[in-house]
Amino acid sequence: MTKRVYLETYGCQMNVADSELILGQLEREGYTVTGDPSQASVMLVNTCAVRDNAEQRVIGRMGELKRFRRPGVVLGVVGCMAQRLGETLLQDAPHVDLVVGPDGYRGLPDLVASAADGARVADVAFKAWEHYEDIPARRTLGQPSAFVTVQRGCDYRCTFCIVPMTRGRERSRKLEDVVREVGALAGQGVSEVTLLGQTVNSYHDGERDFADLLRAVGDVDGIRRVRFTSPYPNDFSDRAITAMAEVATVCEHVHLPVQSGSSRLLKRMGRRYDRERYLDCVARLRAAIPTIAVTTDIIVGFPGETEADFLETVSLVHAVGFDDAFTFRYSPRDGTGALRLSESVPEPVAAERLERLIAEVREVARQRNFRLVGSTHEVLVERIARRGGRLQCRTRTNKVVLLDGPESWIGTYREVRLVGTSGATFTGVSVSPIRELAVIT
Ligand code: SF4
Repeated sequence: MTKRVYLETYGCQMNVADSELILGQLEREGYTVTGDPSQASVMLVNTCAVRDNAEQRVIGRMGELKRFRRPGVVLGVVGCMAQRLGETLLQDAPHVDLVVGPDGYRGLPDLVASAADGARVADVAFKAWEHYEDIPARRTLGQPSAFVTVQRGCDYRCTFCIVPMTRGRERSRKLEDVVREVGALAGQGVSEVTLLGQTVNSYHDGERDFADLLRAVGDVDGIRRVRFTSPYPNDFSDRAITAMAEVATVCEHVHLPVQSGSSRLLKRMGRRYDRERYLDCVARLRAAIPTIAVTTDIIVGFPGETEADFLETVSLVHAVGFDDAFTFRYSPRDGTGALRLSESVPEPVAAERLERLIAEVREVARQRNFRLVGSTHEVLVERIARRGGRLQCRTRTNKVVLLDGPESWIGTYREVRLVGTSGATFTGVSVSPIRELAVIT
């Protein structure tokens, strides 16, 4: 049978980067990539375990993909849900042939071969040394942006979070290896990189820390923009903030998960800061980088959240003036500390709080964005927007701008003036005369 792999990716940017690794590993073994599951000899779903509804979606999707299963065709679950459920998944889902966690991708070709021969296989062992250094990630050629994993795993134990159970202990890649990869990407025309880690600013390769990493990556020839996600508030050293301010390629945006505005709740969540410390971190970032945009993650309905706690979260949204926030309803996860906490918040209460929070976040962002109309920004033209056929661009502060222009502008940097906003996204016009900034070579 012709070796063809079909892969679907759910979840975070780390999973997107891991999917590029998986495809790179399989390509090395003679597989080609197909977008059509009916043509595939192996179908993989790279999964997320952070919320129950993400897992339910995957279970539904596996049910749909099973109709493409024929003798010799393998259907596999990889990623965090695979790690979490392990062999149980093989027992509970007879149509699943293969279960592989985030540390097992090196062995995928052999595991797929065994599964194609009829075995049902799982590899969910943690491998604290695994960085996949020698496996070339399969990138989509011609894209101006790329994700670069610099750290795997997490040593924090936030009580709501399954990640330490699915991705193991924190470890950082060697700085030289990261720089080499970024240099190779720049050689292929990538000009924007996003450095990925669960607590990316705790990066430490034994000798060099996150500040060193920003300076080294920011200095790579051809790289015009450096982003990173997601930092942990306590891990922002003054050195790192100074590097962010001094390295011209580091963008003026930080996605800084807060999770709650109530110190009492933060303690129950096992977050290692309180409201004041978080606000202090934002203040330090803004003092060093006055134009920095700040976005965040917030959970509502965490066990024990009272209306007063929730109102503290709302007040924090206003106090910080977030540019945007991903807002979630708490999702209980087996094996996490929060399951032992009492006082669960009734679903309707959590749902109503989520709605209120979304409205507050939108209003704060809307007010901030309206103030930006009339200002001029460098944007990277990313692609054709899904709706309306205009060009979708991004400012250094991570604001989305829609622009009229030819497709040939994709991958180029331009200066635009923001002429309007929906409150969330902007419309812009090219500043005249159009100044061609760095262009993919
Ligand atoms: S820092 Fe907390 S929320 Fe983030 S991955 Fe680690 S345990 Fe999960």
